[in-house]
Amino acid sequence: MFGAIRKESGGTRGASLPNPDEARKTFTWEVAEQMLDGLPGGYLNIAHEAVDRHVAQGHGGQVAIRWLGKDNEHRDLTYADLAEGTARFANVLEVQGLARGDSVFALMGRVPELYLAALGTLKAGMVFTPLFSAFGPEPIRTRMEIGTAKALVTTETLYRRKIAQWRDEIPSLKLVLIVGEEAPEGCVALGPAMEDASPDFEAARTLPEDPALIHFTSGTTGRPKGAVHVHKAVLYHAISGCYALELTPGTIYWCTADPGWVTGTSYGIISPLVNRVTMIVDEAEFDLDRWYSTIQREKVEVWYSAPTAIRMMMRAGDAAAKPYDFSSLRFLASVGEPLNPEAVVWSNRVFGKPFHDNWWQTETGGIMIANLAAQEVRPGSMGKPMPGIEAGIVERTQTGLKELGDGEIGELALRPGWPSMMRTYLHEQARYDKCFVDGWYLSGDLAMRDKDGYYWFVGRADDLIKSSGHLVGPFEVESALIEHEAVAEAGVIGVPDETAGEVIKAYVTLNPGFTPGEELEREIRGHARKKLGPAVAPREIVFRNTLPKTRSGKIMRRLLKARELGLPEGDISTLETDET
Ligand code: ATP
Ligand code: MG
Repeated sequence: MFGAIRKESGGTRGASLPNPDEARKTFTWEVAEQMLDGLPGGYLNIAHEAVDRHVAQGHGGQVAIRWLGKDNEHRDLTYADLAEGTARFANVLEVQGLARGDSVFALMGRVPELYLAALGTLKAGMVFTPLFSAFGPEPIRTRMEIGTAKALVTTETLYRRKIAQWRDEIPSLKLVLIVGEEAPEGCVALGPAMEDASPDFEAARTLPEDPALIHFTSGTTGRPKGAVHVHKAVLYHAISGCYALELTPGTIYWCTADPGWVTGTSYGIISPLVNRVTMIVDEAEFDLDRWYSTIQREKVEVWYSAPTAIRMMMRAGDAAAKPYDFSSLRFLASVGEPLNPEAVVWSNRVFGKPFHDNWWQTETGGIMIANLAAQEVRPGSMGKPMPGIEAGIVERTQTGLKELGDGEIGELALRPGWPSMMRTYLHEQARYDKCFVDGWYLSGDLAMRDKDGYYWFVGRADDLIKSSGHLVGPFEVESALIEHEAVAEAGVIGVPDETAGEVIKAYVTLNPGFTPGEELEREIRGHARKKLGPAVAPREIVFRNTLPKTRSGKIMRRLLKARELGLPEGDISTLETDET
């Protein structure tokens, strides 16, 4: 039943939950539901849980978002401001003729309107989809077509550059809202529309199973899929924020993820607000000094980032971090790619706290496996299953699945049924159905569980390399390579070979002060051989200025491989740079 704890204890949710080890044994979804308020009649709306209920409980004056603009301006939005702004946005959508269940897309960076649009859409009972503002016109168009977009919220610049030329060819698209005071012809300016709209809107009575969000996957392994999530996901956002990110009311929290990626919504909007934190939102992209001074000035307590950013910080060296005071930090977490053990050791040295790796996917909607604060961190491990989550390591057989034991490598699988699990892949029901076998959801990632229950990422099933009878996960090789002082990042693939089946080839970028050359290549290979043994060490190392990555910062090994073998590159719409 929603709300029981709140009513009994006045809403100190974190304090009401048992500690993680206890919780793993005693966890029930019924107890977890008490973290939420719910709406009369069994309805549930994410925007109510994230915003309105806090205002109703007397927290309207608390800062919900401290926005840092690109040009160093600041703007604070309280929970009351969010309640009003999202109400106005919901009213704008209705006044413009949109209805419950309609699909609203957002294409913009981390600006305040994004947060009003996301939560206002949910408040109106419509379905929200964020896109990377750095996408080109084609990937935007494809996703809006797949998602039957009825409305788009964007900026004038993005509209003119990326939308205007094909806008009329998408019949479903009825409304384009432009952030600011003016809008091009055929669009509506959001500023005046919000001003004219009523500041009151009661959150739509959505059912827990009503669609709320569609997130496109990163496209690391191929064409992105549209994962559909429902309002009930908020239950998982609430508890996972508490357990995996240590979010409690008033925590100063900074999630660096782009809003176009699922992390930017699940843990960049919903989970923190449901847990009533104060979020830092930085409009600017990664900049080392800016990041370090933001932590110091804003006294960030919990920081959620990604390996690609962490490796950039490592690359800048310890000295760059020296002038800053990081004593406010109490918990650091990372997601999106395997976190190399070296990065955990480094952050412990520089920030006085290790980054806690956690694992999840667009499809899971929330963190599934995590290094929790209360547990010892094992560098290189992604942690243990969250309370309420049952994980396993399995092998596909001709007839179904076989569960594997500790120490064996297999596919990481989860028992379906957690609230933030996707409900389908948009228009791809058969593909969705294929993810489920013998009562397990199959993640497509390979992992191993040790005897103490920690999970270790091995690689994506597609990226596994078979070399001279060994199964090699690229992550292991990449982690060994970046331990070498010259190596900043590494991407490892298997290249066909007549005798070995496949041989291992590595692409690396270098730290400042190192120059590519045969001697350095020999030295790095020697280092890898010592760490990994001759069978697993790369046969060849190629130096690169950059590695191809998705917009969410993941190294695209499939692209390295396609280029190596002269194969078609497949879908590259998610590529970070416009390199081809
Ligand atoms: P696509 O499914 O379109 O190929 P994608 O899988 O990269 O793209 P996401 O859902 O954004 O799209 O990413 C989830 C994947 O990212 C996981 O399946 C896993 O491969 C990887 N990942 C996420 N977190 C971690 C982690 N902590 N350690 C290792 N891998 C991780
Ligand atoms: Mg995936």
